[in-house]
Amino acid sequence: MTSRLVVVSNRVPDGHASAAGGLAVALLDALRDHGGVWLGWSGHVVDSDIDAPRLRHSRQANIRRVTFDLDRRTHDGYYCGYSNGALWPVLHGRVDLARFDPGQWEDYRRANRWFAHALMQMLGEQDLVWIHDYHLLLVAQELRGLLSRHRIGLFLHTPLPAPDALAALPGHQRLLEALFDFDLVGLQTRGDLAHLADYLQAELGARRDGDDAFVHRGRRLRVQAFPIGIDAEAFRDLLREREAQDIQGLLRRQYARRELLVAVDRMDYSKGIPQRLQALRELYSRHPEDRGRATLIQIAVPGREGVQAYRELSAEVERLSGALNGDFGELEWIPLRLLRRAVSRRRLAGLFHASKAALVTPLRDGMNLVAKEYLAAQDRQDPGVLILSRFAGAAEQLGGAVLVNPYDVEGVAEAIHQALHMSREQRCERHRELIACVEQHDARWWSRSFVAALQGCKPGLQE
Ligand code: UDP
Repeated sequence: MTSRLVVVSNRVPDGHASAAGGLAVALLDALRDHGGVWLGWSGHVVDSDIDAPRLRHSRQANIRRVTFDLDRRTHDGYYCGYSNGALWPVLHGRVDLARFDPGQWEDYRRANRWFAHALMQMLGEQDLVWIHDYHLLLVAQELRGLLSRHRIGLFLHTPLPAPDALAALPGHQRLLEALFDFDLVGLQTRGDLAHLADYLQAELGARRDGDDAFVHRGRRLRVQAFPIGIDAEAFRDLLREREAQDIQGLLRRQYARRELLVAVDRMDYSKGIPQRLQALRELYSRHPEDRGRATLIQIAVPGREGVQAYRELSAEVERLSGALNGDFGELEWIPLRLLRRAVSRRRLAGLFHASKAALVTPLRDGMNLVAKEYLAAQDRQDPGVLILSRFAGAAEQLGGAVLVNPYDVEGVAEAIHQALHMSREQRCERHRELIACVEQHDARWWSRSFVAALQGCKPGLQE
């Protein structure tokens, strides 16, 4: 009998895969295969303190959604504070932006305990538990405290920095020791894996056990890389939909005599948006012949505005984009269109298809699904060029892209120039190799590999 799968993440998507991001698509697929439950925060915050969260159940086909609200204190300390104010910057190598408030550790722990208690109310003996991301690193420890003997896996969607950077987090040992209560930890890249292996040995004194496991205080943990993929076929199919066709047609008409460049990110300092705008400036200074040739459509989706670093970034991006358009724009052409809002996946597919190059230049990124979606949306006979940061997790798989160092403004400017002038033959050759990888290591491959590895772990508390 296949085990039921219980997925746990900070937020639960609304269940409509067509409207959801890549992660939701991959997980909904795995849940459908196994029948299962998705547990997470509802997204609602209530003002009065909560002692124990009230669970709300809903069902769609064979998938059950279980959600609960957070109170203001937990939301601010666990979500805005410890998760996004401290852990996120540390995991992305930005210790300088991290805010360490000792009180928030308790909020983080309390929220993780709520998740564990909610789980224990619903878990059957054979269920597999798949926890997602940096918000929930203590859930396995809390579950073991409630005597859970389930197989529990964690997938970390962010990068994992070198041991020195991790060690900057006050109390890092108590956080990372809690990983040993999982049976399996999945990471995006081999680079992340090497960092975790170094950390576990150097900082915790864990012992390596075979190729992919570590032992610490009597617990054995398997650690493996599972680079997350997309459903390439489903993304390409979006191109046939009306919304995608309309936007493509419109852009073709508007930009009949010019090229489009595209960049799509959350407004996050890890995405390197200011550096990218500086690179565009550099391009037009070094290559005046490229002025008027291409416009960058930069979509920057706002979020996490409760965190100061995000408010500051937003203001900086506005300032740089205003200066770029003011200094280089002409009556009939502007170098940049900045949209501070989310765009539907159908429209994104159309925009990707119509664009000559994508600028995916994060300073650091767990994977970056936009890079893969851009490749999936290209015309194989006349594809665009992917310009990809070497510091995106995707670069480990997509070495055939035009790889750049996002801090090197001149290098990125030259890469854009190269993309704008690349022959169709070269573009096809690069795209053929890249899309083969995206299609082979897709979302289903990712979730099935992780679940199979988790099923292969010995359940139980001890080594
Ligand atoms: N996305 C979207 N609309 C937008 C911007 C992004 O649907 O306006 C989707 C995008 O297609 C991708 C996901 O959000 O599937 C972003 O994933 P990625 O790994 O690139 O970045 P993350 O936000 O997870 O750091």
